[in-house]
Amino acid sequence: MNTQFTEDSSFLSAQAESVIHLTAPLFGKVMTDVNADLADTILYLPSLADGSMPSLRDVRAVICTSTDPRLEMITLQGAVPVIVVASDIVFSQGDIISVSQRGRIHRYFRAQSQNNAFLVTEACNNLCIMCPQPPKPQSMVSHEAMEQRILQTLALIDDENLPASLCITGGEPTMLKEGLLRIVEAISARTPNTLIHLLTNARYLSNEHYTARLAQAGGHQLLAGIPLFGYVSEIHDYVVQMEGAFDQTMAGLLNCYKQGISIELRVVLNEVTVKYLKELAEFISRNLFFVKHVALMGMENMGFAKLNREAVFIDPWEYKDTLSAAVEVFQLYGIDVRIFNLPLCVVNPDTREYCKQSISDFKNSWDAACTPCIKRDSCCGFFSSSTEKFWLSRHVHPFVVE
Ligand code: SF4
Repeated sequence: MNTQFTEDSSFLSAQAESVIHLTAPLFGKVMTDVNADLADTILYLPSLADGSMPSLRDVRAVICTSTDPRLEMITLQGAVPVIVVASDIVFSQGDIISVSQRGRIHRYFRAQSQNNAFLVTEACNNLCIMCPQPPKPQSMVSHEAMEQRILQTLALIDDENLPASLCITGGEPTMLKEGLLRIVEAISARTPNTLIHLLTNARYLSNEHYTARLAQAGGHQLLAGIPLFGYVSEIHDYVVQMEGAFDQTMAGLLNCYKQGISIELRVVLNEVTVKYLKELAEFISRNLFFVKHVALMGMENMGFAKLNREAVFIDPWEYKDTLSAAVEVFQLYGIDVRIFNLPLCVVNPDTREYCKQSISDFKNSWDAACTPCIKRDSCCGFFSSSTEKFWLSRHVHPFVVE
């Protein structure tokens, strides 16, 4: 793999400065190595390169910056579409992208990333009060097109870039029904050693036959990330704004267990869920002891979490003792527990060892207070959606001594 550019900018979606001669939307693999076989690929000419002019024969398009001295020559040739991007938009060899005729660039696969995810739908059958990406109505979503794009992406991933894990997310992936089974099957066939991390509310997995087929499609590669927000239906159904959801999710969890699908149980920590967190920890430990691990997750301040901030926001500092008590319950029952998305300085010392660097690189940021902190390398930091207005905690403080 050509790695002359290590600074892969982590954008998933970006706008080109301009597009030239692009007469149809583009989808394909990015190449940066001008000495490789460039047929049917999109050639990225980084501004760092030596400036020599590669052969553009059979190249589908060229991406470069407006200051690239080769831009004029390429444009004058008129045979190849050119996408002009800002210098901070960096691609890596093996990235898989689409470019609309208006220059909207979407990156489906980042060859150098450990955080690749396939967003398979923006529709959902829940309406969680703190959802960071509020769903779109199902009528606005084309599942067939999305499925085709994912299958095409999988086919284009180079062998050397096959990821250790691949997330399937939404919306709610089971909204694709048969389509999800085909995607899981295709991932399994293309990359049999990759962990398939399926984020689902598991309501549809209450259908035992469907869950059996999902298990067959993904086999040992599947890890279902399933959220549970309360130990009784009143709490869970309120959080997801759907009556009956708790019963279905519980049935889905049990079906996963029966079919041998590994489960990561996810609890998002907010004003509503932390009130009964210890009870939930006890409920999980007694009834759902078969889960692979439990993830207690700090909330992302986006979408409905912003809109409903009054109802759902709580500074993690205020629930640090509750968090310690819940972790103690899991410890007592021997359940593997992890804490996601919470900086080390806002939890108690006894829970720090459970905190993981869980925030994907493309949405990770830091506070100015973090600069002198000696624990920065082991801290998850913040979601980039945390701002002065939508802050996460008023108690961020750097560690200066162990
Ligand atoms: S100061 Fe910043 S780096 Fe240090 S523990 Fe807090 S959030 Fe993490």
